[in-house]
Amino acid sequence: MKTVLVSGGAGYIGSHVTVELIQSGYDVVVADNFSNCDRTCFNGVEKILDRKLPLEEIDFCDSKAADRLFATHKIDAVIHFAAFKAVGESVADPLKYYGNNLESFVNVIGAARKHGCSNILFSSSATVYGETDKLPVTEQSERQPATSPYGNTKQICEDILRDCVKAYEGIHGIALRYFNPIGAHPSALIGELPRGVPANLVPYITQTAIGKRECLSIFGNDYPTPDGTCLRDYIDIVDLARAHVAAVTRMVDSKMKADYEIFNVGTGKPVSVMELVTTFEKVNNLKLNYRIAPRRAVDVTAIWADTAVANSELGWKATRTLEETLASAWAWEKRLAGKE
Ligand code: UDP
Repeated sequence: MKTVLVSGGAGYIGSHVTVELIQSGYDVVVADNFSNCDRTCFNGVEKILDRKLPLEEIDFCDSKAADRLFATHKIDAVIHFAAFKAVGESVADPLKYYGNNLESFVNVIGAARKHGCSNILFSSSATVYGETDKLPVTEQSERQPATSPYGNTKQICEDILRDCVKAYEGIHGIALRYFNPIGAHPSALIGELPRGVPANLVPYITQTAIGKRECLSIFGNDYPTPDGTCLRDYIDIVDLARAHVAAVTRMVDSKMKADYEIFNVGTGKPVSVMELVTTFEKVNNLKLNYRIAPRRAVDVTAIWADTAVANSELGWKATRTLEETLASAWAWEKRLAGKE
């Protein structure tokens, strides 16, 4: 049995990936320093799987701790999620982001290499594509200069991985570029748990629907899109998690076609903010309080994925409908509020 280290494994994406890995026959070591999440999702994972999981409470900025972890467990592949992710905060405090996001990744790769773990998967983002009118974006589309330190850390970490794979014999790397992950596990035992006021659309919608926020602001309806609101590629969190299982399997089974590979993880379908709001209302049979607000700085007009490479190479495809995903997001919010 192969063991996967999931750094940041107690967070939103990491917890869903842990579930899918275990259900696909992998062993998982979860590592998290709980700096940006509590134990809700980790407990939820154990409940879904009905078993205890090894949990290492470490900060990967501590290189000695990273080294100890790899010395303690025999790790076949590592998926690196542990990072700060708030775009606005990264603009206000870039050193926090460069310090944490880059150092932790350098330490993970260093410890993996030292202890003979050859397979490294990095959680990247469609943010690296920036604003482009050549849509959908393929993995070959040019990256644009980042508009925030957060986005820049994603680009730099991709480059770190690419360079390490090139320099160090035996190291393989995959970067998965996520589009907009949304929704929750069908059990409603794990999901997104933003701290403070949500910056992302779907948690803002669910918190408005439950009454925690008064009104959703739709940032701009004068974009050059069919209904004037921005277009994004919203990918279900369980589908996204399964892409990680496919990528890890490709690495550990030595099926990679190059030592460093990149895959888009999206649905390939653009959805507007307004469509998302009306679908949420319809599927959950409620009315959402919203208003049109000015555009938000640095939002791109439209972005969605060309998923052909991920579909053919990973043998993976998004399967859940937007309706199912938005129903799961609402079920999770209600459960958090103790209403279900
Ligand atoms: N959005 C919005 N109101 C919000 C949050 C987001 O209208 O309270 C819009 C945002 O302008 C973008 C889309 O929803 O067009 C997705 O934003 P999110 O922050 O979730 O993801 P992004 O694509 O910016 O990473």
